[in-house]
Amino acid sequence: MFEEKYPDTHVTLHQYRDAFRSRFNLKFGLPRSDICQKCDRYFVQLSNATSAEETRRIDFETNLHHRKAEQACAVLREDIEIARQNNSVVVLCVDMQQVLFSPMLTHSNVFYQRQFSTYNNCVSNAGSGQVTMHLWHEGVADRGASEVASLDTVFCPATHFALIEKQKRIAKVNVPFQWVEVIVAARPTNPFQVTYMQSEDFKNCDTLDKNVTYPKEFKITEAMWLKCSQNDPFSVMCENLMGL
Ligand SMILES: [Zn+2]
Repeated sequence: MFEEKYPDTHVTLHQYRDAFRSRFNLKFGLPRSDICQKCDRYFVQLSNATSAEETRRIDFETNLHHRKAEQACAVLREDIEIARQNNSVVVLCVDMQQVLFSPMLTHSNVFYQRQFSTYNNCVSNAGSGQVTMHLWHEGVADRGASEVASLDTVFCPATHFALIEKQKRIAKVNVPFQWVEVIVAARPTNPFQVTYMQSEDFKNCDTLDKNVTYPKEFKITEAMWLKCSQNDPFSVMCENLMGL
């Protein structure tokens, strides 16, 4: 385009790139995947908004939601810094990866058939950088609250899962156990530790849950931050984004 418009100017591609990067604040954004349900809902509401007032209201709510998310990230960064400098503080981030399917076949019939699911719950020690993945297939256990609670364990950096997703592209998985090899190979330096779970590793946490007392109007889904202390091992401090 530039050459067509200015045929007499001889500029190398390198110079053009340099000017493009340093003089214009333009960037190519990657299409977002794995965005949260709320963001998705606001996006749909905004595209269907019929009045300026409605657009303003949705804009306001979207901004508030983004600010809350940024605030949570800032708190996490601070906590990680504290854990790095203080051995007696451990910051754990927990998240479940998207379901891994096997066998990885490519013939067209597979697209219409149900495949075998393998679940991966990641626990990352944010201070030390150590990452443990707990892997189990649907024949061993489901992926409800009780199953996840028995993994002896608030958000695992998405970068870990991105490495696995990248490794998936060159992997050939026929049986669930092969996912262990894929996950270990995903980060050659300081590989992820993988625990391949068996049914006896899952404990029934219902009794424990019944014996816990919660404050009135407590909602675990709004909890953003849980704190356990050695000095009071039977209490869990919880905070939501409003600091309550
Ligand atoms: Zn969101």
